[in-house]
Amino acid sequence: MAKSFDELAAAHPCFAVGAKVNKGRVHLPVSPGCNILCRFCDRKINDVDVRPGVAATIITPEEAVEVVRKAVELCPDITVAGVAGPGDTLATPYALETFRLIKKEFPDIIKCMSTNGLLLPEYQQDIIDVGIDSLTVTVNAVDPAIQAQICGGITYKGKRYEGLEAAEILIRNQLSGIKAVSDAGVTVKVNTVLIPEINADHVETVAKTVSEAGAKIYNIIPLIPQHELNWCSAPDCRLLSEVRGLAEQYINVFRHCQRCRADAAGIPGGEDFSKLIYIRPVVQE
Ligand code: SF4
Ligand code: SF4
Repeated sequence: MAKSFDELAAAHPCFAVGAKVNKGRVHLPVSPGCNILCRFCDRKINDVDVRPGVAATIITPEEAVEVVRKAVELCPDITVAGVAGPGDTLATPYALETFRLIKKEFPDIIKCMSTNGLLLPEYQQDIIDVGIDSLTVTVNAVDPAIQAQICGGITYKGKRYEGLEAAEILIRNQLSGIKAVSDAGVTVKVNTVLIPEINADHVETVAKTVSEAGAKIYNIIPLIPQHELNWCSAPDCRLLSEVRGLAEQYINVFRHCQRCRADAAGIPGGEDFSKLIYIRPVVQE
């Protein structure tokens, strides 16, 4: 059975509402590909960039189990094994396979998975069955006209969609998936990338909508202006604090996101152990 929200608030570093905790996570970069085109996404395989979407290497589900073994040995405060990229966790089968293997050897570790949510209707039962404790869905807009400015298109059931059509499918699947997974007792966190020029006035509506769908905690992540959204600005602290305050009317807000790499290991914001545990050689770009 999935851990409750209260259990996660005590043991998962990214569910501690209002306070930092001294618990750690290991991110397992088993998911290379993606099925949507976020205009700010710049996935990289390297050792240097410290941001989401970057990992030193891609590993197999079997290697991921070995990584968890090494990580908890090096840092016993690690309570969470997560998959957060570099691509989408449901676009390839490796994340769910990783969690199946981890569950056998580490029945008590918190299993945490992030997704863009496009394939939630197809995989929500697998997520529940494999025992994911916390699911993060990135929802950047619930209005298709706004989402279409953030996401350039999707590939869904073998077909390419763009514009409003793509945005409508993505939003529908995200919200129905959040509802189904939450109804089954899995704690859902929603991430929204705050883009001042596109969705700042819309974040309050996203928070309200995902809360109504069953999400329990909300994480507003400031945009790193890059790729096709390099013309946008990075939100300042005042805007971030303002939209967090608006969102908080509807849902718990997490305020300590460190925008971690897809292979981060250790306590967020503390020493990173990933260089000691990942399998080399590193592919440099
Ligand atoms: Fe990049 Fe994630 Fe968006 Fe896919 S869902 S394009 S990996 S940010
Ligand atoms: Fe937690 Fe943010 Fe790091 Fe994800 S990116 S593990 S939410 S601190």
